Amino acid sequence: MTTAEARPGAAFLDGPAKQLLIGGSWQPAALGKVVSSIDPATGQPIAEIADGAAEDVERAVRAARIALGGPWSRWTPAERMKLILRFADTIERHADELSVIDTLDMGAPLARASGGIAAGLARLRWSAAQAVSIRGETPHNSLPGEFLTYTVKEPVGVVAAIIPWNSPVASALWKLGPVLASGCTVVLKPAEEAPLTALRLGELALEAGVPEGVINIVTGPGEIVGAALTAHPDVDKVAFTGSFETAQAVIRASAGNLKRLSLELGGKSPNIVFADADVEAAAQGAANAIFLNSGQICSAGSRLLVERPIYDELVAQVADLSRAMITGSGLDPATQIGPLVSSAQLDRVVGYLAAGRRQGALVASGGDRLTDAEHIGGYFVPPTVFRDVTDDMVIAREEIFGPVLCALPFETLEEVAQRANAIPGGLASGIWTRDGARAHRLAGMLRAGTVWINCYQVMDAAMPFGGYGTSGYGREGGIQHLEEYLQVKSVYAKLD
Ligand code: NAD
Repeated sequence: MTTAEARPGAAFLDGPAKQLLIGGSWQPAALGKVVSSIDPATGQPIAEIADGAAEDVERAVRAARIALGGPWSRWTPAERMKLILRFADTIERHADELSVIDTLDMGAPLARASGGIAAGLARLRWSAAQAVSIRGETPHNSLPGEFLTYTVKEPVGVVAAIIPWNSPVASALWKLGPVLASGCTVVLKPAEEAPLTALRLGELALEAGVPEGVINIVTGPGEIVGAALTAHPDVDKVAFTGSFETAQAVIRASAGNLKRLSLELGGKSPNIVFADADVEAAAQGAANAIFLNSGQICSAGSRLLVERPIYDELVAQVADLSRAMITGSGLDPATQIGPLVSSAQLDRVVGYLAAGRRQGALVASGGDRLTDAEHIGGYFVPPTVFRDVTDDMVIAREEIFGPVLCALPFETLEEVAQRANAIPGGLASGIWTRDGARAHRLAGMLRAGTVWINCYQVMDAAMPFGGYGTSGYGREGGIQHLEEYLQVKSVYAKLD
């Protein structure tokens, strides 16, 4: 059996250096540079990719602008809907291959990688339905004389879609869906740490019949390619998912031509368990909320706030669950916790583990990098539970983006709401209780874009997702999503 037959994705990974998608064709980076993408489970290179620069951004934005004014502008909503569905079906046929590529590129266990692809596909197909539901209004006006007044929705234009590495296929599809549904064009910039599936999606887009120049992809460093895109005067909108710090740079860079922005950022999401909750379900839910994808999820339930009477019992259960989790290469079907994405991310998380211990938090499970023979070549941190954490500790305040749970006790509903909201951002939150009235009362008090009650990390394409405060603005999913990619024109026609 050849390697290509043995492992899905091998033909793509073992092929020549991946190039940039510009105007419907694959092209080398203008400066001819390539870089290696690294498998975080082994620290070894898995593929070579073009290292783009500002010159490539220039070419890609030009291609996107030309496509925006070309035949694509005359595609009907029904045609765009059919294209999106064809793109989704093409991706689905290659889902196994995409999962393996993502697992090798960013470390997620295969099951998690394929879950991300399924989530991406659900929203992509939701966007297909949205393509045929774009509508303007005909408000009854109060003007003297006879006027017909109506509004139309038009694509916002050329979009720069900048995505992180933690859920590469879903992040890409959540932006490509509304681009195609609205009739915009895009330059997609994947993260340096995990660019491969975005490039494979580019190949599949062409296979599905996406017209040339509608989707362009430029890989390369954020401070070069991302910065050039966000400052480019011919880009109309930036759809950004990433960190708060980079979002601030995006806002500054985009000021030159007042680009439309949507910002999907991080958080320090509280997961709140009351004493009347189903403790077993809450423990499982709390572990799932933080350890899925090694904690590298924007909505990770990283602060576990537990009502005092069950604090010891619940924390012990979560620690037991975390000790039983298997940490290893994502390619092994038994693995539940994959490696962190990069050595930089490993250093960052290990730094927080040290800070937690230094400030007096107690390690209930995990607590240090794995350095045995099986794990030393990769970037592995086991699921870690810190107990006796206080609100002022750095591990309770800052987004760690790793498999690190901080458990804190609380006494009353008012107190826990106030403490949950004491963090500037508000992306997600969880509530575990058998008391429905209390759950809904607290849901109303929490400053967060999503509240999960007796569940966590549940996502549906019909539901908007996004942040309050420093967790960003704009929404992905739901009917709001497409609006971010449309602008409104008001037409007044004098009839008499
Ligand atoms: P990051 O901000 O470092 O990078 C995100 C993207 O921005 C990458 O493609 C990067 O190359 C690019 N970039 C870097 N510098 C740039 C610049 N100056 N101008 C333009 N683009 C630039 O974030 P990350 O480390 O890749 O991802 C982790 C962060 O993303 C976490 O904070 C996480 O919570 C957040 N996130 C949020 C969501 C959400 O939906 N809210 C989803 C996933 C991740």
